Amino acid sequence: MRATMMTTPLTLTPMLRRAATLYSDIEIISRRPDRSLHRATYGDFARDAVRLGRAFMKAGMQPGERVATLMWNHVEHLAVYFGVPCAGGVLHTLNLRLHPDELAYIANHAGDRTVIVDDVLLPLFAKFKDRVALDRVIVVGSREAAIAAGAIPWDDFLATGDDDWSALPVLDENAPLGMCYTSGTTGKPKGVVYSHRSTVLHSMTVAMVDGLGMSQKDCVLPVVPMFHANAWGIPFATAMVGAKVVMPGPYLDAPSLLELMETEQVTCAAGVPTIWAAILEQLDKAPRQLAPGTRMVVGGSAAPDAMIRAFDRHGLRVIHAWGMTETSPLGSVAHVRSTDGDEEERYATRARQGVPSPTVELRAVDDRGLVPWDDTRSGELQVRGPWVAASYYDQPDAADRWTDDGWFRTGDVVTIDRHGSIKIVDRTKDLIKSGGEWISSVDLENALVAHPAVREAAVIAVPHPKWGERPLAVVVLREGKTATPEELRAFLGEHFAKFQVPDAVEFIDAIPKTSTGKLLKSALRERYAIWSW
Ligand code: AMP
Repeated sequence: MRATMMTTPLTLTPMLRRAATLYSDIEIISRRPDRSLHRATYGDFARDAVRLGRAFMKAGMQPGERVATLMWNHVEHLAVYFGVPCAGGVLHTLNLRLHPDELAYIANHAGDRTVIVDDVLLPLFAKFKDRVALDRVIVVGSREAAIAAGAIPWDDFLATGDDDWSALPVLDENAPLGMCYTSGTTGKPKGVVYSHRSTVLHSMTVAMVDGLGMSQKDCVLPVVPMFHANAWGIPFATAMVGAKVVMPGPYLDAPSLLELMETEQVTCAAGVPTIWAAILEQLDKAPRQLAPGTRMVVGGSAAPDAMIRAFDRHGLRVIHAWGMTETSPLGSVAHVRSTDGDEEERYATRARQGVPSPTVELRAVDDRGLVPWDDTRSGELQVRGPWVAASYYDQPDAADRWTDDGWFRTGDVVTIDRHGSIKIVDRTKDLIKSGGEWISSVDLENALVAHPAVREAAVIAVPHPKWGERPLAVVVLREGKTATPEELRAFLGEHFAKFQVPDAVEFIDAIPKTSTGKLLKSALRERYAIWSW
């Protein structure tokens, strides 16, 4: 017997058409470099996306040709997100926080033929553009700056396109749509190539209530950059459902974000914990009239229990999610379960990384095999599913990231509870082994930031003559607060076994971060490699 259903391909084009026809009046607001707010609609965006795609087709773009972006979050970037893939090209978002040498490597490895760059990022682009063979450069923003840089102004390029939707190609759902490079591996950055199908399926999960819960009624603020794992797929999902979108442009500081959240009545914002820690400090100083029940999607690093509780006190609800560039990125989400009992149990559920999204499977493996769901034994998290990478782009030497039976090895170490909810206890290389016992730096960091004087904390393994390694806590204090090492050690001693408590606490002004806002522990390890215990 054969199924009698249509096999309509899952591609971006019907999503763009849906946004254009059903939501043409819904707003997309972008903060400009001069801080002004630019207001457009899905109608404007869809028209520009089609014109852009058609302009590329007329310029001879081949199927699968890479178009890179070096841009902040704004409506033009969104037009590239849809316009390039719907015309058969591949969107490649370059991470503007990387070193120019790394950008040159990535742009060459990806084979980028066009770069679309914000005028304010031209100085960065100038540092690597001569090392990449490009057909054209397009500049968003100032026309004069574009011309001075020998590039094509955005509007001029759009003007070479047309509004002919019917001339857009009929795409295979497995055709490449976009690519992102991850630095979360050893060695050089590695590229993941998403397909139309993986992106459509991922968008539906992002929008699900038990996903990130995005609907037409929402006003969504993606603080997470569009160059970081496609802003977690949010721009695709919001266009799919027709949610109002507020784009922060280059201004990711807490006062600017809070102003947007208040004036536009944002109902859902998404970003890494560092951003929320800063927002929390601001809110503690001066409360704002935010939309009631605002959700804040937190991922990229663990959302500490203390943060979830603190936001609840402000009426803001944290949704904790886990994922990777290799998983599109949404892999799991932590939502309260209907069987959760008291408040403590509900917070414990929400501070975990959660259960796999539908159609994604997770398992943990250690040297004895599959780790049971006892929340005690830990193992490496492995994942598979329709929006999980099956390989890296042109990187055959990284094949060991996949198991023989086809699962992706994440490098995260987890325990799994009886409900199948994962809890990250560390990255494989971040675990501290002291006297043969493992210590989770993540647990210690989460506990430290619950102390009222602590703003940020990183715990690292430092070589120790007797124990092999011992934990050292590196702490940034909140403005105007004080604490002594003894005080913090005693505070940790309330919750941790004696051997787990860091032997020393170092205070510094700022913890070095990676380009995506994660604690750069390798820099700290180097700095404290020689330590007299
Ligand atoms: P990236 O590919 O740069 O997004 O990095 C993915 C990595 O970020 C994962 O393998 C985790 O180590 C980390 N990560 C992402 N989300 C979380 C989370 N909710 N809690 C802890 N770590 C996370």
